[in-house]
Amino acid sequence: MDGTSADFSHAPALRALAPELGRPDVSVALLMVELFDVSKFQARLGFAACARLLQALEEGITQALHPRGSVTRLGDGRFCVILQAIRNSGHAMLAAHKLMRVADGVMNDASLALKYKLNVGIALYPAQANDAESLLQSAQLAAAAARNREVPALVFDEACAAQIIKPWELAEAFARALDTGEISMFYQPKLSVSTEQTAGVEVLMRWLSNGKPVATPDVFIPLAEESGLIHAATWYAFSNALRLAGECGGLPVAVNITPGMLHHREFINMVRSAIATWGVREASLTLEVTEGGLIANFDEAKQRLKKLRDAGVRISIDDFGTGYSSLSYFKKIPADELKIDKSFIMNMMNDVDDQHLVRTILDLAGQFKLDTVAEGVEDRATFVALAEMGCQYVQGYLFAPALSAEKLQEWLVRNPYERRAQGSGVAVE
Ligand code: C2E
Ligand code: CA
Ligand code: CA
Repeated sequence: MDGTSADFSHAPALRALAPELGRPDVSVALLMVELFDVSKFQARLGFAACARLLQALEEGITQALHPRGSVTRLGDGRFCVILQAIRNSGHAMLAAHKLMRVADGVMNDASLALKYKLNVGIALYPAQANDAESLLQSAQLAAAAARNREVPALVFDEACAAQIIKPWELAEAFARALDTGEISMFYQPKLSVSTEQTAGVEVLMRWLSNGKPVATPDVFIPLAEESGLIHAATWYAFSNALRLAGECGGLPVAVNITPGMLHHREFINMVRSAIATWGVREASLTLEVTEGGLIANFDEAKQRLKKLRDAGVRISIDDFGTGYSSLSYFKKIPADELKIDKSFIMNMMNDVDDQHLVRTILDLAGQFKLDTVAEGVEDRATFVALAEMGCQYVQGYLFAPALSAEKLQEWLVRNPYERRAQGSGVAVE
């Protein structure tokens, strides 16, 4: 199912719609209700219990919407709800929320201890479709868009159709975007905790069309990795990063490296030739690799990173705390820096466990003589706590988000980089 066509499984819904749409002056809302991970429920509860749960949900919805609604159960935990005399999207949205409350009652049975997720896509007849099939398709597009945008319910609009781009189309579009300049690099300042001065920047990729994001890096980076475009994308990141380093007096730049890129046969050559092209010192470049990228093929990763580190390039372990590093293996990683994942930092003022974890990571880094960076610092209280715990560098919205090249230049005028801010805030000259 690609979520965009009214296929065979929709036959019951089309049958249910046909008589409704035949009448004059009719106004109908179609709600496509999608319950996610039904196969997980089946695995957990067994087929029979899962079927009973879906039956209970169907009955609950039918009762709640009576007498203006009818419900047809489709496969894969989907329901097609037809509501009569709904004149505008506001009314349809109210019905969607009522339906979600019903689902909460049925699904959040404490004895099941299951987390479920539901999305509702809404389409209106005759406002948004002129026949049963297009009404059904619009509702389904809206449900898929709701899932993408992580909202519980969404009324169909043209953006829904545009958003449901198939992965291979998105990969093709990404390849074009690399050529047309829609892909650009943004730069998030990294600051020294002791001086609150710029200590470097992390290079973060953006895909913008007419200034608006087409997709976030969390979507297009894995796609680039799967489709083999990560090589071109990483070269682009290196070029921009090292040119900037050259232009800004050796400003330290950090580039993110995916697991696939780390293991690419051209990886070491790429790093070397990027450094040679822009004529910067090796120490100006930090490679951010995740624990996951290291574990994938540890011995090879270790060897490659060691080679680059021996040449002077800095290595940072990104998203630290989210992976599975055991201490024994962690000790073997040739690294200069630990970067604590923002999920711990953003929560640490409200969650003592996260705070303990951050403290433990900082102690660990100290014992291994690694620099420490906290990402996701959004408020001063967190900054002060990190400073007290001995964290050396910070990144986060408290200081700056990722900035365009132009905005970065303005930032650097106000917060110039001085080499002495590097290396635990100790002067190196
Ligand atoms: P990451 O390497 O962990 O990057 C940090 C992410 O946290 C960035 O998201 C950044 O914009 C965001 N961030 C920074 N400070 C804060 C804060 O205070 N609060 C919050 N809520 N977020 C903050 P972004 O740019 O969306 O990147 C997401 C991920 O995509 C990155 O995670 C990285 O894994 C990947 N990525 C981005 N650009 C590149 C790239 O050029 N190459 C590769 N391989 N991966 C990239
Ligand atoms: Ca990173
Ligand atoms: Ca992170």
